[in-house]
Amino acid sequence: MSWDIVIGQNRAKRIIQKHLEQNRLPHSLLLYGGDGVGKDAAAIQIAKILNCKTAVTDSCDSCPDCHKVNILQHPNIHLVFPLPVGKSELSDDLPLDKLTSEELSQVYSELAAKAKNPYYEISIERANFIKITSIREIRKKSALSVLSQGRKVIIIFDAEKMNEQSSNALLKTLEEPLGETVLILTTSNKDALLPTIISRCQLIRFEDLKEDEISAALQSRENLDEQQSKIISRLSNGSYTHALQLMQTDLNAKRNQLVDFLAIVLTQNPLKISEEIEKMTKENDRAEIEQLLLLLQVWFRDVHTLSIGSDQVLNVDQKTRLEKFNAIYKNFDIYAVFKEIEKALLLLKKNVYIQLIITVMVIKIRRIILVKN
Ligand SMILES: [Zn+2]
Repeated sequence: MSWDIVIGQNRAKRIIQKHLEQNRLPHSLLLYGGDGVGKDAAAIQIAKILNCKTAVTDSCDSCPDCHKVNILQHPNIHLVFPLPVGKSELSDDLPLDKLTSEELSQVYSELAAKAKNPYYEISIERANFIKITSIREIRKKSALSVLSQGRKVIIIFDAEKMNEQSSNALLKTLEEPLGETVLILTTSNKDALLPTIISRCQLIRFEDLKEDEISAALQSRENLDEQQSKIISRLSNGSYTHALQLMQTDLNAKRNQLVDFLAIVLTQNPLKISEEIEKMTKENDRAEIEQLLLLLQVWFRDVHTLSIGSDQVLNVDQKTRLEKFNAIYKNFDIYAVFKEIEKALLLLKKNVYIQLIITVMVIKIRRIILVKN
C-alpha cells in the first residue's frame, strides 16, 4: 500500500514526508479537510511509517510491523473514534467495558472494514460522540512502553465528535507532553474544535479530490469501467468515500427517473409539470436533488457529445434515447442549459426553497430548448 494508498493530496504528502525526512514530525498533528478525501488514510500511513523497520519517508509494506498496521492490529497504534455509551456505564469503566456483545461485534466489524479500506467511514449505531473515557485512555496508552522499535501513535478519527468533556480532557492531555507519542487528529469540521486544541497542533490541510483522481482510483481499485467511474466521480463532490457509497446506490434508476422527468418538462402542460416537480421534491431530500441535478448535467453533456459527432457518451446504455433526443431537439443553446443547472446547484447549497429552485430551472430550460424548436 505505502503512500500510494492516499489518493492525490500531493501537497499534504510532501509536507509530511519532509517532516519525516528531517526526523521532525510534530507530536500533535491535525489533518483537516472535506469528508472522505484521505485524512484517515494518511494518518494510518504515518503510523505505519513510524513503525516500519526500514522506512524513513515511506513504508516497506512487507515487514511484520507494516502488516500489523495494515490490519489495524499494531500494539503501538491506538485508535479513538465515537462509540456508543453502555448501559449503566460509569466514569471509571473502560470505553468498551459496558458494551453488549452485539455492539462489540459491530465495533470490530467496522474496524475490519476500515482496515480493508481506509476510505471506509466507520458507522456504529448510537455512537454519537467520542467518550471522555476514550480520551483518558490516551495517556495510559502512551505511558505503556513501546513494543518493538517503533513509535506510539494515537489517532483520533472525527475529532469534531468530541463533546465538551472529551475536548477538555484532550486539552489537558495536550498540555503535558506525551513523551515520544505522536497524536494525530482528523476532522472534516475544524471549526467545531476548541481553538486551544487547534493551536497546539500542526495543521495539515487536505483538499477535495479532483474528478479524474477519483475516477482513476475507482477504475484501479474497484474495477469500475470508465463510463461508470466518470459519472460517479462527477457526483462525488470530491470525496472518495462518497464515491464508494454511490457505488452502492442504483444510479441508473435515478437517472431513468430524471430522464422521464425531463421528457414531461418538454412535452406536457404547466399543470402536469408542476405536479411532477412537487412529487420530485417530496420524494427526494436536498442531497438527492443535488444528485439528480448532477445526473442532469451528465445527461446534457452526453447530448452535446453526440451533437458534435462523437460517440463517447457516459450514459452508454441510453445511447438510443440520447440520439432520439438529439433528433427532436436541435440547435438549442446547450451552454445556457448548463448555466441554469449550475445556478440551481449553487442555490441548493444556499438553503433556498427546493421547489422554487427546481421550478425556476425547469421553466428556463424548457424555454431554452423549446424556443428553438
Ligand atoms: Zn515495513
